[in-house]
Amino acid sequence: MVERIIQEKYADITLQKGINLQKNQTLFVTAPVEGAEFARILAEKAYGLGAKNVHINWEDDTITKLKYTNAAEEVMETFPEWRKEMQESFAEEGAAFVSIHATDPDLLNEVDPNRIAKASKAAGIALKNFREYMMNDRVTWTVISIPTKAWAKKIFPNQMDEEAVASLWNEIIKMVRVDQDDPVTAWDEHNNNLQKAHEYLNEKQYEKLILKAPGTNLEVGLPKGHIWQGGAAVSEKGIVFNPNLPTEEVFTAPHKYNVNGTVSSTKPLNYGGTLIDNFQLTFKDGEVVDYKAEQGQDVIKHLLENDEGSRRLGEIALVPDESPISQSGLIFYNTLFDENASCHIALGKAYPTNVEGGADMNEAELDQNGINDSMVHVDFMIGSNEMDIDGVKEDGTHEAVFRNGTWAFSL
Ligand code: ZN
Ligand code: ZN
Repeated sequence: MVERIIQEKYADITLQKGINLQKNQTLFVTAPVEGAEFARILAEKAYGLGAKNVHINWEDDTITKLKYTNAAEEVMETFPEWRKEMQESFAEEGAAFVSIHATDPDLLNEVDPNRIAKASKAAGIALKNFREYMMNDRVTWTVISIPTKAWAKKIFPNQMDEEAVASLWNEIIKMVRVDQDDPVTAWDEHNNNLQKAHEYLNEKQYEKLILKAPGTNLEVGLPKGHIWQGGAAVSEKGIVFNPNLPTEEVFTAPHKYNVNGTVSSTKPLNYGGTLIDNFQLTFKDGEVVDYKAEQGQDVIKHLLENDEGSRRLGEIALVPDESPISQSGLIFYNTLFDENASCHIALGKAYPTNVEGGADMNEAELDQNGINDSMVHVDFMIGSNEMDIDGVKEDGTHEAVFRNGTWAFSL
C-alpha cells in the first residue's frame, strides 16, 4: 500500500485541480469498495475544504459480476428509477462529481455480450439527462483512478498482488504529477501548455484532418466553428476544473457526416468489462460501414448497433508520443490512461461545447452543425509514433500537424 501522505496529496489534487471543490458544495464520489481507504481520505479532505455533504456511491466488481452472470434478463433491460433520480438530484443541486475508475479489465469477459449490451443500453437511456450535465459542463466533474488488485495484476502479471498494486500506485502518482514538490503549480503549467496547443489549432480552423499510419488512412472533417479543448475546462458557473486526471489530450468534435477511410486501433480497449483488441473500422460519410476485430468482434457489433449515433464519431483527440503515459510503455487496460498515451477517436456522443454556441443548441441544431449524439461515448486508441496528421485549410492547402506521433509545430 502506498503511504498515506501520498494518498492525501492525491486527494488534494483531485479536489483542488480535478473538481475545484467550492465551499458549501456537495461532493458525489463513485468509488470501488477496494478503494475505501482513499475514498475516506477524500471525504475527510473535502469536509476540510468546507464541503456541505459527501456522498460515496460504492461499486464492487464481485457483486457486478454476480449480477451480470445470474440476474434475470429483465434486470439487464431496466435501470432502477431511484438510481437515475439520485444522480440527477445531486446534479440539480450543483454537486461536484468524482468518479474513480478501477474495474478489473477482464471482469465480464465470460458474460454473454448480449446481456452487457442490454444493460449498457438501459443505463444509457436512463442517464440521458444526467449525461447532459457532464458533457455540457453544467457541473464540475473529474475522472481519476486508484489501483485495485485485479487491475494492477493485469498490468503487472509477473508481480505478487501487493507488489503489483504498489507498482501501479507509483505509475499513477507520476502521471497525475503528485510526485512533484508542488503538484498544484505543475498542473497550472501543464494546463498552460495544453491551452497553447488548442489555441494554435483553434486559430487554424482546419476544414479536415488527414490521419496516416500503418493500417490507417482516415479523413476527419471538422465542423465550422469547431473548438479544440484540452486541460482545464470551465463550468457553466465559471469554475475552472480538470475533467480527467491525468490528461494529455487536445480534442474536438469530428463532423458527424464527414469522416471517410479506414482506421486501425493501436491499443486494446476495455469496454464495460470486456476487451476489444486489434480492430479496424471503415467509414463512409461519417458512418461505420465495415469493421473487424481479432478480439471482441461481438462487443463491437453490439456497440455499433446501440443506436444511430454509435456508428459515428463524437471526438478526435491529439496526444503527442512524449506523453508520460506513452513513455511508460505500459498498457493500462483503462481508457483514462490509455487514451492519454495516444491519439484517439470516440464513437458516439460529441461534447456540444466543442462547437461555438453548442451548449445552447437543441438536438436539431447540433445535428445541423455536424455534432453527433448517442447514448454512448467510447474512446479508442489509434495513435503511435508512426502517425502523421495533416490539417487541410479551407483553400485546400495542407499543413503538417503531427509528424512521427508528435506536434509538427512548436508551442
Ligand atoms: Zn479524449
Ligand atoms: Zn472521449
